[in-house]
Amino acid sequence: MTTAAVIVAAGRGSRAGGATPKQWRRLAGRMVAEHTLAAFRASPLIGPIVLVVHPDDREIAAPLAAEDVMLAEGGATRADSVRAGLEALAPAAPRHVLIHDVARPLASAALIARVCAALEAGATAAAPGLALSDALWRGSGGEVAGVVPREGLFRAQTPQGFDYRAILAAHRAHPGGAADDVEVARAAGLAVAIVEGEAQNLKITTPGDFARAELHLRGRMDIRVGNGFDVHRFTEGDHVTLCGVRVPHGRALQGHSDADVGMHALTDAIYGALAEGDIGRHFPPSEPRWKGAASRIFLEHAVALAEAHGYGLANADVTLICEEPKIGPHAGEMAATLARIAGVEAGRISVKATTSERLGFAGRKEGIAAMATATLVRP
Ligand code: MG
Repeated sequence: MTTAAVIVAAGRGSRAGGATPKQWRRLAGRMVAEHTLAAFRASPLIGPIVLVVHPDDREIAAPLAAEDVMLAEGGATRADSVRAGLEALAPAAPRHVLIHDVARPLASAALIARVCAALEAGATAAAPGLALSDALWRGSGGEVAGVVPREGLFRAQTPQGFDYRAILAAHRAHPGGAADDVEVARAAGLAVAIVEGEAQNLKITTPGDFARAELHLRGRMDIRVGNGFDVHRFTEGDHVTLCGVRVPHGRALQGHSDADVGMHALTDAIYGALAEGDIGRHFPPSEPRWKGAASRIFLEHAVALAEAHGYGLANADVTLICEEPKIGPHAGEMAATLARIAGVEAGRISVKATTSERLGFAGRKEGIAAMATATLVRP
């Protein structure tokens, strides 16, 4: 991988309101910095990422470190922080580097790709700009004092991309006080190509910007619902396993695995939301290795598959249909067990039960049915 990214997150961000710097405030369910990191990690064009943070923020930033995300300590000014990020990349020696403000969490994959493409095409530096579409006025004393021609004017955005060695040398040589890295590059005599910016790539500065960014993110959010249904018949035995909980009973449930009908319904609901078939497709009953298997491996697999597709389990609701055993005394433990296996907080999973008024196979106590609904959300 020849392109790295430096995300500058060492600012104190007081204009956005609140005591916490804006990059650590929550936006549509996760921190601003997490959205920004996710945008770069999702790009197949980007290799190592350096997140430059203020020394006081090490603790809050620590969980964001990963195999491809390294943390670096920022300096007193933005330029100092960028330089610290660039120096941290020295061992990786990337060919190109994109430098991005953490407060722009909405930069799209297409924008990142445009900047990378300009560098690949031979530019030493390339940065997104948005041509102005509004008229520009000069104001004085609350009145319009003149109109400024907007031809040739651009709003500067990030990520700004550079030849790594050229921008590192430019930063080392710069006396300080530059507004952005394009200014540093130009001071070193580098030509900077303009690529098309994007309107949604707003920089969170004021409290109102949080609301605007949240609207964009919610508009992108992908919400999926799946349902699952399963039945197992009773056979000889002394207990049943329902939603991961062993319940003593005069009979057992018959099945290839542990016959946990509730966990099967939930697992199928998750596969269904992903349009990924059902348990039988991922764990064929023809394979002896799943005989007597604990059903938690099915649920763990479905949740991992959801995560691989970028989805988290927002909630699930499981209904067991049987005359006996009595589910009520165990329902809380069942919900907690499913939540633990699925890796979500308690309160996101519900387990409840009903009889079928002694009608049908469940009413005749021939077996237990279960149905489940699961909601998956990709932010
Ligand atoms: Mg089953």
